[in-house]
Parts: sequence; C-alpha cells; structure tokens
Amino acid sequence: MHIPFDNSYSRLPERFYTRLNPTPVSNPGLIRLNRQLALELGLDLEFLTSEDGVATMAGNHVPEGAEPLAQAYAGHQFGGWSPQLGDGRAILLGEVEGQNGRRDIQLKGSGPTPFSRMGDGRAWLGPVLREYIVSEAMFALGIPTTRALAAVTTGDIVLRETPLPGAVLTRVASSHIRVGTFQYFVARQDVDALQTLSDHALARHYPEGLEADRPALALLEAVIARQAKLIADWMSVGFIHGVMNTDNMSVAGETIDYGPCAFMDIYHPDTVFSSIDQQGRYAYKNQPTLAHWNLAQLASSLVPLIDADKDRAIELATGALDGFPALYQAAWAKAFRVKLGLSTEEEDDIPLAMDLLDRMAAEKMDFTNTFAALGTADATLAPLTDWLEAWHTRRAREPETEPVNPQIIARNHQVQRAIDAGVSGDFAVFEALTDALATPFDGDADLSYRQPPEPEEEVLQTFCGT
Ligand code: AMP
Ligand code: MG
Repeated sequence: MHIPFDNSYSRLPERFYTRLNPTPVSNPGLIRLNRQLALELGLDLEFLTSEDGVATMAGNHVPEGAEPLAQAYAGHQFGGWSPQLGDGRAILLGEVEGQNGRRDIQLKGSGPTPFSRMGDGRAWLGPVLREYIVSEAMFALGIPTTRALAAVTTGDIVLRETPLPGAVLTRVASSHIRVGTFQYFVARQDVDALQTLSDHALARHYPEGLEADRPALALLEAVIARQAKLIADWMSVGFIHGVMNTDNMSVAGETIDYGPCAFMDIYHPDTVFSSIDQQGRYAYKNQPTLAHWNLAQLASSLVPLIDADKDRAIELATGALDGFPALYQAAWAKAFRVKLGLSTEEEDDIPLAMDLLDRMAAEKMDFTNTFAALGTADATLAPLTDWLEAWHTRRAREPETEPVNPQIIARNHQVQRAIDAGVSGDFAVFEALTDALATPFDGDADLSYRQPPEPEEEVLQTFCGT
C-alpha cells in the first residue's frame, strides 16, 4: 500500500457521512507537492509524484486503503441556521498516522456529493492557490492550521462568473470535525450519534478528557481553550478569516476553510475583506466575539451529554463558556508581549499594546511592518515617537528579550499576483511566494514581499472559496 491508511471516521456509523468516490477529471497536472509535509506523514514521495500519485490527488485514482467519503455537518452561516451543509466539494480519502499524530487526507474540489446542493463540487485555481499559500504561511507562523499537501490542475473548466481553470487541493487536517458536525446530530435529536462523535473527537484530540468525570464537558473546555488561543494568534498577525461560521470552526482548534481570508496591510480594527460580509460581521475586531458565539453553539449542542439533569448541564456548559473571554485575553496578552519583546508581565503591558494599536490605526500604519520595525531605527516608526519612549522605558525593566515578529506575511496583493500568473499557466510566482513564506521570521526575507500594495494593487475584497 502506497499510503498507509487507517480510517477511523469511516468506522463510525453510516449516518455520519456518505461513501462515494471523487469524480475523475480530464487531465491531472501537479502544480506543487509539499514534500516536507509528505515526509512528515510518512508518504512515499516517489508514489505521490508518479502518474498514479498525481491521479490520486486529482481524484482519478482511488488508492488502496482509501475509503472515500463526504462528511455530514450542519452550521450557522452568518447567523442563519442550515441543518444540512456537509462536504459539498470535498471528499475525505482517509487518515494516516504521521509523525505528529493522525491526519485526515482530503481532496477539495473533487466533484459533487449528495451535500452539494446547487454547487458543482469543484474548485477553481484561485482559491486552491490561495488556500495553499495562506495555510502553509499560517503553519510557518506557528499558528494551528490545516495544511496543503498538494495542488493539482484538472484540465477542466469551472464555470463561475466566467470560465476558469479547475484545480484540486489535497488538504491535511488533524480532523475535519467541526462545531457544525455536532449541530448536525442535535438537529436530528440523535443523542447516540452525538455521544459517539464526542467520544471520537475526545479520543482523537483530547484523549485525557475521556478519563474526566464528564467527558463532554472536558471536550467543551478543551475546544474553548484551543479556540481562545487560535483567535489570539490570528489577531497577533492581523489575520481575518472572513467566514467564521460554525461549520468552519474545527474542534481540533486549527484554522480551517480558507475562503475569503486575508492578512491586513494597514491596521484598522474594522477591516473586512470578504465580498459576502457586507455587514462587517466577521471584521478583524469581531473575531473573538464571533468565536465565543460559535462556541456557545457547541456548548448548547453538548448539553444532552453533560448531565442527565438539563438545568445542571446548562449551568456547567455556561460556566465553561463564560471562561472564554479570560482565556482569550490571557492568550492575547501573551501573544502581544512576545511581539513587544516583554518576557515579564506588568499590568500596564496591555494598555501599552492597545495604545500602540490605536496609534497605528490613527496613522494608517502597516500592521506587519510596524511590528517588524520595533527594536530597529526604522523610519516607519516616526509617527510613534511618544509611544516608543514609553515602550523603551518599559523595556528597560526587561532582561534581554527581543521582540519576535514576522517580517513577511501572505499579503493579499501578492497572493492575487500568484493567482493571476497561475491562471495564465505560470506557477513561478506562486512557488516563489510559497517558498518565501516558509520562513516568515527571517530578517533577510526578500524585501519585495514586505512591500505593502500600491494603491492600484490593493485588494479590497476577497471572494468565497467556491
Ligand atoms: P465553505 O464556504 O467552504 O464554508 O462552504 C460552505 C458550504 O457550501 C459547504 O457545505 C460546502 O461544501 C458548500 N460548497 C461550497 N462550494 C461548493 C461547490 N462549488 N459545490 C458544492 N458545494 C459547495
Ligand atoms: Mg466550510
């Protein structure tokens, strides 16, 4: 067997998914294989780059040991409830035990499934390259995320507003269990399935919780803690997810479902990119609140498993949920102390960081470059003279700690450039950007990647991953 599959999700009851194979494409072509990730997963590079390997990642070949399936889930999208979403354009091939634990291997853009509703089950090249670039950039930043194992072209045209080249992303995740997966069974009042899912998620992500007095409460607490840290991590690099719906929130605490996501250039807390987010619901500053709201949906989903006495269960779930703001604040403070080069904790550190952000917003300063310039005599920092004085005073009480900040992020206009070149058949821009973003803390990073967009290059809106 070329891929050592061991498919635990496929051993769950049949009502958790629909079994089906990917739909073949005309002409698979490898754009990029993530060799380092392939090795980490114990996969055979020779196989993956062979004709059968590329055919596998295009959905044309189902390798031995794979048990392809589309997962069922529900979700709140922009606050509206959908009792049935599910993998409409993705198919889980199976799971492998990698060096860092069990991982799902999933094809995204692999053809229609019973969950596709009106969609074609396909992806075009743009979102595939965007997800590849941004998810791998996130990984390099040390932020929990799904990963990109490979991107392939299909040789087929995908019809959106215009005809576009089709592509498939091979996505790797700790699991694809979402808050919406729990909601799916709640909507069906299927408490047995809910219990099975809770046990499965615990075994997979938080095995110590299985020993707890109340495993479902332990699961809730663990997810709350992971998400608090994840959102603080996003905030610390200026990342905006764009579609923080409950079906896009992983119980493993990884960033998942890269759609109209983007990193901010100029800092402003109201920043929003997604073309479908007219109300600014998922703006940068709203992400912690929205995460809390999504976690409330998980909490209410788990109530039937927490205690036979419903009032008691609600009380316990609410108690866990009420812990989110403090966990988030602590994670945020920790992340921003690292950015400011503060290894000790003082009460005024948070106001100091907030003050910096306020000034950056007022002065329309670049988020990444401003932090990257701290500790240097960079002219970028000119508008911050007063603040820098306060910061230097604070830093004088520090042992030798340097600020740690990424020098480069996946800037939207550069992602767009990589996509535009890719559409015309040139993947060199994509390759170079992906390579550069693999070492974001490198002070010698190619200067061109640090350049904020010229006004005409600025990407004001990003579109959903379809
Ligand atoms: P997402 O925007 O990735 O969170 O997707 C939301 C829902 O729409 C999921 O159930 C997807 O499977 C489904 N979906 C998105 N794009 C397509 C497509 N091209 N074909 C079928 N289903 C889709
Ligand atoms: Mg989704």
